[in-house]
Amino acid sequence: MNSETPRTDVANADILLWQTGYRLVLALVAGIIAVGLRSAGILTLSSVAYVTVGPDSADRVLGLVAVTYVALVLGIRALVQRTRAAGRTLSTLMVVADLVVVFLLVFLLAEPSDYHRGLLLALFSLQLTHVYFGRAPALLLLAAIAAAFLLINDIAQRYSNDVSWPEALTTLGFFCLGSLLVIRVQSSLHARLGTLVAIFERAEEGDFANSYDVAADKSPDAITTVGRAYNRMRTQLASIVQTDPLSGCYNRRGFEQQYRRELARAARAQTDVALIAIDLDFFKLVNDTHGHLVGDQVIAETGELLRANARTDDIVARTGGEEFMVLAPNTSAAGAQHLAVRILEAFRRRTFGEPKAKVTVTVSVGVVSDTVPDDSIAEALRSRADEALYAAKRSGRNRVVLWSHGLDALRFGQTSGEFPPVSV
Ligand code: GH3
Ligand code: MG
Ligand code: MG
Repeated sequence: MNSETPRTDVANADILLWQTGYRLVLALVAGIIAVGLRSAGILTLSSVAYVTVGPDSADRVLGLVAVTYVALVLGIRALVQRTRAAGRTLSTLMVVADLVVVFLLVFLLAEPSDYHRGLLLALFSLQLTHVYFGRAPALLLLAAIAAAFLLINDIAQRYSNDVSWPEALTTLGFFCLGSLLVIRVQSSLHARLGTLVAIFERAEEGDFANSYDVAADKSPDAITTVGRAYNRMRTQLASIVQTDPLSGCYNRRGFEQQYRRELARAARAQTDVALIAIDLDFFKLVNDTHGHLVGDQVIAETGELLRANARTDDIVARTGGEEFMVLAPNTSAAGAQHLAVRILEAFRRRTFGEPKAKVTVTVSVGVVSDTVPDDSIAEALRSRADEALYAAKRSGRNRVVLWSHGLDALRFGQTSGEFPPVSV
């Protein structure tokens, strides 16, 4: 399957696959019964078909239609199996083929007064189309059914003059009215199912922001129950998917979500956003000296320490092995630098890994703060925080560096000289 295949096309493909299976079985059973009844002389041509098609051609037409139909179903099935996708054209082609077969059979076998049987059979196809492909194809199909019904009545009228138009039109009117009502009721089901599917798709990408609006369902049903169950799981799922189990901070995925959301908010409110990139200094040495278990414990304690020093609205994330990021909403460069220094000092004061070991760890910190014109600044802000962190490492570690334009040039070695002022 092509990665760009729309999801609906994939879903349609699955539906078409099982439906073509049923169609083949149905065509086979109907064919066997028809041949049986025809040979027993029970199945006779309608009077109109007798005049228009003639008894000799009728069997040939029936056979041709049956073979064409089965070939078409097999062809569509093979195509869908190969491409694993089915756009609107294939689904429509299948439904139109059903319709042609139904009304041709009715025309050949039923008297004009029994043409309403065609409507009954078509109702089944209409239902399937609506349930599985949606409202627009169903409405199109309804128009096609009405046209096919009028067409066979018109032919019958021309050749046998045996059609009661008031009766035919009343039957068609009731059929259309009933079908429209059913489509309307089912459309609401469809729309709500669509909402649920959209929520699930976003959850699949780690976005649990939307809950299902249970209160909007005036008459609660099975879909409401699924929505309610999702709402119950949502918070737990979100925290499982977005949290790093070792440090208890947001993981990269969770950070990404929060970052995008915060940038959008800051762009609306025209406020600053600060990013603080933190990397443990010489952490490899901690592992080498005390072992990985102590290393893990240090990472876990680092998470606690960062969260304890951050403010309630700050987002603390572990973005890599021993790399962390603090996203501070509504925070100027001075405010962010202040927070960064507080973190730096908290590390200096603290020992980690107890009781197994007594490890001191320092951090290098890069800080950037800027106003947010729109979320296109996301990458720039992040790479500036990294540049500042890199500068802190290069200039001796265990310090905070605030990003400035000069840093950029130094980072790429275009100028020589001192790093810009280091705060601690
Ligand atoms: P620098 O000051 O330049 O950052 O030096 P460093 O040793 O911290 O950096 P380096 O990138 O060389 O090594 C990072 C180390 O962090 C290596 C890796 O094994 C360790 N590390 C990364 N993730 C984990 C983890 O989950 N648990 C443990 N115990 N160690 C980890
Ligand atoms: Mg490091
Ligand atoms: Mg690192």
